[in-house]
Amino acid sequence: MVKFCAKCNEKMSEGDILCKYCGTFLTSGEPSAAAVQEAPQSKTGRIVLIIVIILVIAGLLVYFLR
Ligand SMILES: [Zn+2]
Repeated sequence: MVKFCAKCNEKMSEGDILCKYCGTFLTSGEPSAAAVQEAPQSKTGRIVLIIVIILVIAGLLVYFLR
């Protein structure tokens, strides 16, 4: 059975533990585990990004509306 890296989608050989392209550990038959691990990180990153964008826009508004 051919496996694919969950991170970079490269084709893995059977028996590979690590992805030779990006070094990600391959979980055998459990792609959901990696997805669950990555979900909170990306969510937090998105919230931080939104906050930064709001702060930048607010700063620009304060700067131009003075
Ligand atoms: Zn990979």
